[in-house]
Formats: sequence, structure tokens, C-alpha cells
Amino acid sequence: MQMLLDRRVIVTGAGSGIGKAIVNRFLEEGARVLAVVRKPEQVEEFLVHDNFCHVVGDVNDYATNELAVTTITDKWGGLDVMIANAGVWDFFKKLQKMSAKELEDGFEQIMSTNVRAVLMAGHASYAALQDSHGCLITTGSNACFRPGGGGPLYIASKYALRGVVAQLALDFAPHVRVCGVAPGATDTPIGGTDALKQTGKSMNKDRTRLEAMGKHIPLGRVSSPEEHTDLYVTLASAKGARYVTGTILVSDGGLSAGQ
Ligand code: NAD
Repeated sequence: MQMLLDRRVIVTGAGSGIGKAIVNRFLEEGARVLAVVRKPEQVEEFLVHDNFCHVVGDVNDYATNELAVTTITDKWGGLDVMIANAGVWDFFKKLQKMSAKELEDGFEQIMSTNVRAVLMAGHASYAALQDSHGCLITTGSNACFRPGGGGPLYIASKYALRGVVAQLALDFAPHVRVCGVAPGATDTPIGGTDALKQTGKSMNKDRTRLEAMGKHIPLGRVSSPEEHTDLYVTLASAKGARYVTGTILVSDGGLSAGQ
């Protein structure tokens, strides 16, 4: 049985990693998916699919979020699920190792993509989600709950995102649910910001670091992006999580249980 038959879904950050795994899984489950990506070549493999369309843009521009909502609404008559997943990392950059300029600009860029863009996705999609009694889902992190998964800018952004989920769940109730998924360390090419001079870096290029990260996880390894997708399916399905809002579901291999 397909869990998401005809659900109309937007996924941001859909060109790689967890976002791409969500797109794949949601198409398998019968959803109609609009992917928001930075570059058109990131979605070439999906173009043959009738239930797929995309928008190219920067989630830090309100217009990208708005265009995604109007495109899916025009194409399929509405929106059931907005997944604000795009994010950037800071490669554990410590405050005391940043110049003042890196701190000023790094804060702006990381908070903009990891927090402000989620607020913009919620703002742009609220009316459509209200019409469909749908849900907003964001990708948090184990860094929503504990330090150590990044430097202070990334951790600050994900703790802030936890507040966004909690407050929007109250503000959007009773018809729109707001939830998150909190992955732990995952084998993806997540990148950094220009501000911290991390352009072109990607986390999973450094296989040694990835293996080292796995050793701190009770399950003994980092996860694949696909391993988190069940939680998104449950939250996004019409029947699966109808009484769940204001919650971030954790998929971290036991990291938050302690070491
Ligand atoms: P990823 O880099 O593969 O995916 C992130 C996507 O977001 C990329 O395709 C990127 O192009 C896109 N993106 C970034 N900035 C954007 C912008 N301004 N406009 C449009 N698109 C933009 O990395 P991922 O690990 O799949 O990250 C997805 C989410 O998962 C992020 O929110 C991240 O914080 C979270 N997360 C990742 C891990 C991990 O270990 N990889 C752990 C916990 C949480």
C-alpha cells in the first residue's frame, strides 16, 4: 500500500542528501512532489516522472518559497505538505577561531538558511496548508537538543529551529500541524558557507572524519539519508500522525541517549 497517494508535497534542499532521499521515497509512496533545488542538473533523473516537478532557486529569497507554493497549487490544485529541509553546516568552526567578520557574516548566512528560510517556507505555505489541513515539516538535527554536532553557529541555528517548530505548532493549530525530524550524523555532502570560507567543502568527502563520527554513536555508524525517510512518510501521510504536532522525531542512532 502506498502511504502518500496523491499527497502534494514540496521538498526544499531536494538536490542531494536527505532531501533527495525524501523525494525518491515520496514518489515511491505515490506522492506528487515539487523539489526546490539550487541547480537544474540535480533533478535530471526525476524529470521522467509524471508526479514530479521542480523550482530552481535560493530558499533565502522569499520569492523562491512563494514560487514553489504557487507552482504546485497551479499544477495539482493545492499543497498538503511543506518540507523545509535545506540547510548548511559549519564544519565544527569554533567561535574563538573566527575573525569578527566571519562571525558577523557566518551568523547571518547560517541563521538565514537554517532558520529564516524555514519561517519563510511556513509563511509562504500557510494559506495553502490551512486549506488542505496539511503540515509543515522541517529537518532539525541532533543539534536541536545537544551540543557537539557542529560549532556554535550551527548549534544555535538548530536550537532556534526547535523553537520555531514549537511556536508555529501553536500558531498554526488546529488545522495545520508543524513537526520536525532530527537526524544524527548522516552520510551526505552537506556544505558550509562563503562567510566561513567553506565553499566547496562537503562533509562526506572526508571519509575518515565520517567514520570517526560513527564511533561516537551507540549504533556504531553514521546513517544513510534513506534511513530517516520513514519518519517523514509518517508525519506527511494523511492518516499516519494526525495527532502529532510541535514535536521533533529523533533518528540519531542513539546519540541523544548518551554515550
Ligand atoms: P545536503 O547538502 O546533501 O542537502 C542540503 C541541500 O540544501 C543541498 O542540496 C543544498 O544545495 C541545499 N541548499 C543549501 N542552501 C540552500 C539555499 N540557500 N537555497 C536552496 N537550497 C539550498 O545535506 P543534508 O545533510 O542532506 O542536509 C539536509 C538537512 O539535514 C539540513 O537541514 C541539515 O542541517 C540536516 N542534517 C544533516 C545531518 C548530516 O549529518 N548530514 C545531520 C543532521 C541534520
